[in-house]
Amino acid sequence: LKMKYNDEQAKRRKLFNEVQEAKGNIRVFCRCRPLSKAEVSDRCSTVIDFDVAKDGELGILNGSSTKKTFKFDRVYTPRDDQGDVYADASPMVISVLDGYNVCIFAYGQTGTGKTFTMEGTKGNRGVNYRTLEELFKIAKERNETFTYDISVSVLEVYNEQIRDLLAPLTTSKKLEIKQAPEGLHHVPGLVEAKVENIEEVWNVLQTGSSARAVGSNNVNEHSSRSHCMLCIMVTAKNLIDGECTKSKLWLVDLAGSERLAKTDVQGERLKEAQNINRSLSALGDVISALANRSSHIPYRNSKLTHLLQDSLGGDSKALMFVQISPSDKDLSETISSLNFATRVRGVELGPVRKQV
Ligand code: ADP
Repeated sequence: LKMKYNDEQAKRRKLFNEVQEAKGNIRVFCRCRPLSKAEVSDRCSTVIDFDVAKDGELGILNGSSTKKTFKFDRVYTPRDDQGDVYADASPMVISVLDGYNVCIFAYGQTGTGKTFTMEGTKGNRGVNYRTLEELFKIAKERNETFTYDISVSVLEVYNEQIRDLLAPLTTSKKLEIKQAPEGLHHVPGLVEAKVENIEEVWNVLQTGSSARAVGSNNVNEHSSRSHCMLCIMVTAKNLIDGECTKSKLWLVDLAGSERLAKTDVQGERLKEAQNINRSLSALGDVISALANRSSHIPYRNSKLTHLLQDSLGGDSKALMFVQISPSDKDLSETISSLNFATRVRGVELGPVRKQV
């Protein structure tokens, strides 16, 4: 048993070194979806140049020449599949079993593939399902030296309110974020479903997805204006030395980052737009404060950043997918997403400076 333990420790050191590469900054992977059928029939042209996509570069085309290039940790062309994308995220996912808090989020304009990347489709599953599948696989491989308890919560933040997507529809309690003394943030009353295997996970994710649709007239519109958040909580017990660690992985499909045309926005939609702006700009502010090593990180300015507090900053690991459209008609939103992602990529995480 001791030998097996040493073996595992060696494997984990290797993985740790790979993940170390990710430590110290927020990694940014850029994924471009294919042109849709409608865009093809509307004769939209592609403005993304993947010829420069070596080593994570991507260009914006201006006629036949490349006008501007951006550099990320990875760039996926429309031909790269869900497996390619997950393979690159996997080391970060696995580090949650070793006690790290991790956050993976998809950012971008509505219709660019955030839900496709995170949730995927039944025949072509995304990061959420693949993550849990891999966590169970590794937990099983390590079962002589570790026991893992894995539970999941699925929630939505809409108009600055947290909605539990696993709670029975009849419950309408107001959910607030609390912090245990010196401990992790949590939401008292939120359902934490203990999952033992991947079939149970599938059921839980389905429940979450269908709850999201209930109560909204237009599901697509609703989901583009709310943040959908899956939290995976892991308690690991080392059977050799009895040590116990708790860690958390957030997988977040953010609301669409597009700016709404001013004339379009009134009443309820204005409130929604302001709340989306508020939480996405709060996310930007948290990231800037981390980048500046500021002594105050404004996590509490939005529900989104407050929820992510344990997994964004300090020695946690973060990965952002910036999702883009290839079409000329989306160019200005694409450039604004790529600019945001460039700022995020410059951020060095690390212990937050103590307030004096
Ligand atoms: P978002 O969540 O950003 O609003 P969606 O995930 O709903 O966007 O994607 C919009 C449409 O584009 C969906 O029909 C989706 O299946 C398709 N799509 C997105 N990304 C890809 C991709 N990489 N390959 C194939 N289809 C994609």
